[in-house]
Amino acid sequence: MSDLELRALRKSFGSADIIRGVDLAVPAGERHAVIGPNGAGKSTLFNLISGAFPPTSGEVMLGGERISGRPPYEINRRGLSRSFQVTNIFHNMSVYENLRCAVLWSLGYRYTLWRSAAALKDAAERSREVLHLIGLDHARETPAGLLSYADQRALEIGVTIAGGARVILLDEPTAGMSRAETDRAVDLIRRVTEGRTLLIVEHDMGVVFGLADRISVLVYGEVIATGTPAEIRGDPRVREAYLGEEAA
Ligand code: ADP
Ligand code: MG
Ligand code: MG
Repeated sequence: MSDLELRALRKSFGSADIIRGVDLAVPAGERHAVIGPNGAGKSTLFNLISGAFPPTSGEVMLGGERISGRPPYEINRRGLSRSFQVTNIFHNMSVYENLRCAVLWSLGYRYTLWRSAAALKDAAERSREVLHLIGLDHARETPAGLLSYADQRALEIGVTIAGGARVILLDEPTAGMSRAETDRAVDLIRRVTEGRTLLIVEHDMGVVFGLADRISVLVYGEVIATGTPAEIRGDPRVREAYLGEEAA
């Protein structure tokens, strides 16, 4: 069964049709990249999936359950978590507190659990685990806003997975990074998405072709091709519409 499925998804803003009938099925455990030119609607697609706003028509299914129309916090608690194109962390909180907050938040409506000693101990342990996973043990008490850009992005990935979501959406996680920073980010993404379902938007074709099991190409709100990296690379329609620019 598909972990994440988009069915005839459409989104218009006023008279602008931005997402124009997208069908996409991502099986559990797949790493799926969405590529396409600027303004194609990639971030809008993520906003529709994560519940930032409802689709004009069509459906988003998570683990066979319809989630479109539900608010973001509910979708998050059903097991889907995302990062943003513009880094979204609490700058005035420490690295550790950012993670702990994400873990506690995932307990959600079981709010009273926050006060149980056992739950707080579990949350602390999980936060330390993620801190270690993202390689920021040394920066535990550093205000997140003082981290380097690459470390802020690593923290954001940590926050995204800290609550235990099984479907992860990452929006341009390596944009603006050096080669070395990109390599580190890819290694982190690979480790934290092991056994999870990943939908990733990326412009760096080295990252996309190295990481993705399958790729969908979005152009002006339509998926013009879905396939393995080899299929996408060899598809003349894709070359013409997009890839020529970035991965020749
Ligand atoms: P991408 O992430 O592929 O670069 P976006 O999804 O950010 O593209 O944007 C696709 C198009 O949708 C752009 O033309 C953008 O201006 C438009 N758009 C995105 N969000 C809104 C919104 N809330 N209201 C109006 N237009 C929007
Ligand atoms: Mg863009
Ligand atoms: Mg975008």
